[in-house]
Amino acid sequence: MAKDGHKYIFVLGGVMSGVGKGVVTSSIGLLLQQKGYPVNLVKVDPYLNVDAGTMNPTEHGETFVLRSGLETDQDMGNYERFLGRDLTNEDYMTSGMVYQSVIARERALGYGGKCVEAIPHVRDEILRRIEAAAAQNGSRMSVIEIGGTIGDFQNALFIEAARVLKMNHPDDVLFVMVSYLPTPGTLGEMKTKPTQTAVRDLNSYGVQPDFIVARSKEPIDEKRKEKLAIWCNVRKDRVIAAPDIKSIYEAPLNFEKDKLSDAILDALKLPEKRKASLAVWKKFALSMANTKAPEVSIAIVGKYFDTGDFVLSDAYLSVIEAIKFSAAKLGYQPKITWVNSKNLEKGGTKAVTELTKYDGIIVPGGFGESGIEGKIKAIQFAREHKIPYFGLCYGMQLMVIEYARNVLKLKGAHTTEIQKHAADPVVDVMLEQKKHLAGNKYGGTMRLGAYPAYLKKGTIARAAYKKELVDERHRHRYEINPTYVPQLESAGLVFSGTSPDGVLMEIAELPRTAHPFMLGTQFHPELQARPLDPHPLFTEFLKAAVAKKGK
Ligand code: GLN
Repeated sequence: MAKDGHKYIFVLGGVMSGVGKGVVTSSIGLLLQQKGYPVNLVKVDPYLNVDAGTMNPTEHGETFVLRSGLETDQDMGNYERFLGRDLTNEDYMTSGMVYQSVIARERALGYGGKCVEAIPHVRDEILRRIEAAAAQNGSRMSVIEIGGTIGDFQNALFIEAARVLKMNHPDDVLFVMVSYLPTPGTLGEMKTKPTQTAVRDLNSYGVQPDFIVARSKEPIDEKRKEKLAIWCNVRKDRVIAAPDIKSIYEAPLNFEKDKLSDAILDALKLPEKRKASLAVWKKFALSMANTKAPEVSIAIVGKYFDTGDFVLSDAYLSVIEAIKFSAAKLGYQPKITWVNSKNLEKGGTKAVTELTKYDGIIVPGGFGESGIEGKIKAIQFAREHKIPYFGLCYGMQLMVIEYARNVLKLKGAHTTEIQKHAADPVVDVMLEQKKHLAGNKYGGTMRLGAYPAYLKKGTIARAAYKKELVDERHRHRYEINPTYVPQLESAGLVFSGTSPDGVLMEIAELPRTAHPFMLGTQFHPELQARPLDPHPLFTEFLKAAVAKKGK
């Protein structure tokens, strides 16, 4: 059932999670694309959530929204950034999605009275989805990342589906195992044993890896490559070094030192269609790793940080990357500080005045009540002290609330997300959202994905984008209440971007005469910022931050 001559590369993780399967998948995608092969990248998330939209970001990092509106895993963001193009719904699957289709079909008598079982029915639904992804965008190769680690219960059916694909198409399927090689401090020596055990585990599924990507602190040496080759039954030239790096964008360049893309084409018995030209990527990767570039300091005021004693920045991954791309373009390196908005509430005025040391402040997307008064304080401070401010989604809604409270003097201004019967519901639930909320229908029901917006002449937004019509990705239930727009405008706030029918306020800003950069977007510009094509609004924000630094 596989597409004729189509190639499938499965990326699996051994030993432990969090070692960068996503970066390996993205890098293989980039390298093969560079060699002239159209590639699609697929993320398999073995959890039972139907999509990544209902999870708390401290649980699972950022929710990455595709153009279509599908709420997916943050790895999809890395895939899009490495490939430099949009991915489709077919490129993402969870166990929840797979089971939902199987169960729906069963309820419709689609299995002709048979007993519906994990094998073959669930497995075949997985294979059907892999094929549907392969059929997109003229792809010749699919790189499919199976989430979790070898040995997990949850991903076993996906590995089984991959095994069957390989059995039926032995020349068209490869397995890449991304493994971790620890160097225990007490020994000072890199150990291969956990990887050997992981390979044996994988063998017990009937799967033999063709490649081992050896994640480690320092590059794996020849001796240990040999050891892995012998004990894991993998050719030595297919053990690829993957040492720790400063920026993930160096990964493809590092892999090429071990000739990864040639080795993959060789394993697939395919010719190199063209020499990979990584010059542009290299220039970008170097600029991202340039520690000599002057710093521009940005505070991100959010709340999804705390997991035990650790600070988790994954919740805002795309925001961080978007800042880095624009900063690099301007020849700066960002110094990002996490400011927990809950602390701004507790810490009083002193905590807030400390914000003056930053060159720019961002309030990113968010939900719910906790920490929002702290964010509003930060926004007020940024406005009054002319610190460049960029609000993303919730950050725009709160910027408008702050303006209504402190400039329009509507003390009861709030969002109905928090105060159902606010005296001045400046931010209100969108009409079509009411029925979803009434029926507890939370999954996949927000205003999601790409929508057009028209930009007003003479505004900061219009000058930054240099065009009138833009197209940005959304994820929200609430909007600026149109009833308050005339009042807000007469008090000086400019709605520089609106939906084509003029009803939804997509961008709010203060004119340059009032503030160097105070702008918020109802959409998430960070989702479309690309390494070689930084987002114009992030670039404009950073220009203002750099200018503040100069003062
Ligand atoms: N909570 C707000 C809403 O639903 C903002 C969402 C967001 O920041 N993504 O409209």
